[in-house]
Amino acid sequence: MDYSNILQEVYEKVSKEEGRGGVASYIPELAKVDPLKFGVFFKEINGRDFGMGDFDEKFSIQSIAKVASLCLAYKMLGEKIWERMGVEPSGTPFNSLVQLESDRGVPRNPFINAGAIVICDILIGELNNPEEDLLSFMREISDNSSISFSENIAESEKSTGYRNVALCNFIKSFGNIENSPEKVIDFYFKLCSIEMSCREISCAFLFLANGGRKISDNKQILSESQTKRTNAIMQSCGLYDESGEFTFKVGLPGKSGVGGGILAIHPYKYAVTLWSPKLNSKGNSYKGMRFLELFTTKARSSIF
Ligand code: GLU
Repeated sequence: MDYSNILQEVYEKVSKEEGRGGVASYIPELAKVDPLKFGVFFKEINGRDFGMGDFDEKFSIQSIAKVASLCLAYKMLGEKIWERMGVEPSGTPFNSLVQLESDRGVPRNPFINAGAIVICDILIGELNNPEEDLLSFMREISDNSSISFSENIAESEKSTGYRNVALCNFIKSFGNIENSPEKVIDFYFKLCSIEMSCREISCAFLFLANGGRKISDNKQILSESQTKRTNAIMQSCGLYDESGEFTFKVGLPGKSGVGGGILAIHPYKYAVTLWSPKLNSKGNSYKGMRFLELFTTKARSSIF
């Protein structure tokens, strides 16, 4: 199927619509982003691709990076990682502390902040140079040596990230963080600060649409079963406490970030990334959600 006409049509329609919501301002550096940016990059496993708008401009991928940290930990430790966190949607905001008390420091899933912080702790325990090794992994899956952290964003988040520091210390109090909270939280802020464009994100995570294998060199990044499971967690937990709504309206595994990006995967077909910085009240890109809803409906291309 040639998706380009529908992609173009939906892009033009959504571009003209009023962008509701506002840019994330709780991380001061993110508040400086031009709210009118709008980019889309669509890439199929057969090699065809299509970009629109600001698709080559790097932005702060924030929680989309939690897909990469999960994949790296899952690749290295296999099913053991599920001893430290669950695979259930939380139904609470991404940075919530409330469930951790009753769940005794075991986060509901790897995509809420609490779960990603535990993944960071796991990676620190497994990697010789966590920051460099994480970047090498990102560069490997994307065949792109320009992928980097933003020191500005990481510092900016550190200056205001009291809630994440609290989460990390709280989990540590239950014994589910092994390293020092300072080290873990610094690594977490670095992870969230990665900058990539829509094109780079779609290319990097296309292996999730290809049974775990990279398209360029056929290298197996995750096993087929791990890939299925990662997509399943994206489906049920990837859009904070709007994951049900995203499944209902879009019908694809996805992961959003407060930088305004959304990555969506159609298993065995394509990866698509959207970027529009204005967020709705749940912290998801307003136009990103809107674009994907219209696209999967018009193209009859959801997994349901
Ligand atoms: N660095 C952000 C935070 O921890 C990530 C939030 C997000 O993109 O979901 O608050």
